[in-house]
Amino acid sequence: MSDIKRITVIGAGIMGRGIAHVSALGGFTVTLQDVSKDALENAMGIIAANLQKGFERKKLTMEQKGEALEKLTPTTDLSEAVAEADLVIEAIPEDLALKQETFRRIAQSCPAHTILATNTSSMSVTEIGAVVDNPSRTIGLHFFNPVHIMKLVEIICGLETSPQTLAACETACRKMGKKTVRINEFPGFVTTRINAMIGNEAFTMLQEGIGTPEDIDRALKLGLNHPMGPFEMVDLVGLDTRLKIMEYLHQTLGEKYRPAPLMVKYVKAGRLGRKVGRGVYDYSKKK
Ligand code: NAD
Repeated sequence: MSDIKRITVIGAGIMGRGIAHVSALGGFTVTLQDVSKDALENAMGIIAANLQKGFERKKLTMEQKGEALEKLTPTTDLSEAVAEADLVIEAIPEDLALKQETFRRIAQSCPAHTILATNTSSMSVTEIGAVVDNPSRTIGLHFFNPVHIMKLVEIICGLETSPQTLAACETACRKMGKKTVRINEFPGFVTTRINAMIGNEAFTMLQEGIGTPEDIDRALKLGLNHPMGPFEMVDLVGLDTRLKIMEYLHQTLGEKYRPAPLMVKYVKAGRLGRKVGRGVYDYSKKK
């Protein structure tokens, strides 16, 4: 595969908009696709606001900010979005059937050389990639939230991922200003498996009445030097996304990964985290 110049990001939610942001700043021509017009509008507004903050904090020049915005095109049309892409990064909800169906549809419209990457937090890149004709061009690119701030991309090689696909993605991630680690596929990779377990244990403790969310968060921040507490973290990630991850780990790795019943209850109540204004904490009151 020659150099990656055009990147298409599928899904303009928390992760997709961040991946589009760092791709545009990395000098790539970027198309951001979503089924929802509202999600695209919201994403473009957030990217512009985050680039502006970058300028105010002297991390970017006005010129870099302007150039990045010019490189971004939003669309709801999937076939058009991938027609000239060198790399497609999928960031739609954590649902295996949905990701496979989307990979299938992308492969029908993109060139033969296009690399197909998934930003799945936990699922099998091999299984997602198996639905396309040439799975050597499939890979996992696991970005972290907030994407424009976090330094790492965990690169996940599926069974069929080729060394060329890996090398091209490592170069692209470096251009986005990211460091990378190479991981051989296993459910939850490295970061998600450990982080999801910490978060799940925190919900079990809350359910047992061991402490308030504030005290449990303070304990991990001040006692263990974690930059965020587990409840602050799950509110940022989204409780629905975390629950899907736990369900997948439970199904693939066994009993120790059973989702904490209190987390399931929060999701049923619609307390999905910052994105809806309320998760473990209430953001309509909290600054
Ligand atoms: P999100 O719910 O914020 O956004 C998902 C977006 O996908 C929405 O805008 C939705 O409209 C869009 N969408 C749904 N179906 C679609 C389709 N068929 N085609 C195009 N767009 C579609 O989700 P998110 O938190 O950004 O998570 C996306 C992926 O990234 C998941 O696989 C998740 O596990 C992974 N991830 C999330 C985090 C995190 O902290 N939230 C971190 C790393 C990885």
